Amino acid sequence: MDVSMPVPTSVWQPGSLEEAWSLKKELDGVSQFIAGGTLMQMQREQGVVFPPHLISLEQLRELADIEETVDGSIRIGALTDLETCRTHLLVKKMCPSLSEAIGTIASPAVRNRGTIGGNILYGIGDAIPILLAMDARLSWFCENGIRSEWLSDYVNRQESLEEGAILTDITIPSLVKGHCFFRKIGRRETFIPSIVTVAMYMEMADQNVIRSIRIVAGGGVNTPRRLRGCEEMLVGKQLTDDLLSALSIKIKEESALIGDVFASANYRRTVAANLLLTELQSVR
Ligand SMILES: Cc1cc2nc3c(=O)[nH]c(=O)nc-3n(C[C@H](O)[C@H](O)[C@H](O)COP(=O)(O)OP(=O)(O)OC[C@H]3O[C@@H](n4cnc5c(N)ncnc54)[C@H](O)[C@@H]3O)c2cc1C
Repeated sequence: MDVSMPVPTSVWQPGSLEEAWSLKKELDGVSQFIAGGTLMQMQREQGVVFPPHLISLEQLRELADIEETVDGSIRIGALTDLETCRTHLLVKKMCPSLSEAIGTIASPAVRNRGTIGGNILYGIGDAIPILLAMDARLSWFCENGIRSEWLSDYVNRQESLEEGAILTDITIPSLVKGHCFFRKIGRRETFIPSIVTVAMYMEMADQNVIRSIRIVAGGGVNTPRRLRGCEEMLVGKQLTDDLLSALSIKIKEESALIGDVFASANYRRTVAANLLLTELQSVR
């Protein structure tokens, strides 16, 4: 074969989840799902070659809506574009920090095409930290129907629940009682990859005691992760100066953020600790 000739790519447009699933099985090893295509196009420009078959999920319009469920959770279809998520009234009302986080992703043009599902499957997408802090769950269309799991389990594993599984939706539990916080630091205000991203969800009991808390740090090439050791340090405690000093050290250790050409590990860990501590100080 002449290696200088690009391999033509066929694009399939299944009309149902079942059809998309069967196509993926049939074209096993030579195909990939594509949603908005923004990440894949960027990867292609960086030299990643498309497989011979792309299975577009664009026709699966049932995966592109946002609704409130009977228990007060919000269900977001994985194919919902980022701009619709950002501006949706339910998201703005019930999880404004998610709307804020999505507003830091790329530009309006990318957000109009890119999907929330694609952002999660990116592995380092900027929607992940706040979704982790909000304890989101993922649902997948698999061999034996829909299966769901915690987003935190997915990020630790970094692969779909089952080979060829299709991410169908993201569910955020009702968060009416708590306080959410998100912050992305880049080298400029917008249209920039993150250097550090942190997020937090916290519920207080009486006398300023922390009832429950979820803390997340990521940024750059670092997969966002829950800092469970830090969380354990805080539950059932009041936020004293001594506790916050100890927490600062623990965040730097446990986040284990690594450096790259844009920022050193020490810079990232210090910024993550400072952002989280500043927020905790403001709510005590
Ligand atoms: C100029 C530019 C700037 C960007 N800036 C940012 C930024 O600041 N922050 C950020 O987080 N991201 C950024 N991105 C990355 C990307 O645009 C977003 O993460 C976007 O949300 C990806 O969604 P998509 O639908 O386009 O994914 P796609 O490119 O279609 O797919 C991404 C991956 O997910 C898989 N996939 C997608 N949907 C499903 C599904 N439902 N089930 C199974 N597999 C699926 C695909 O096979 C592929 O592997 C940027 C991209 C560009 C081009």
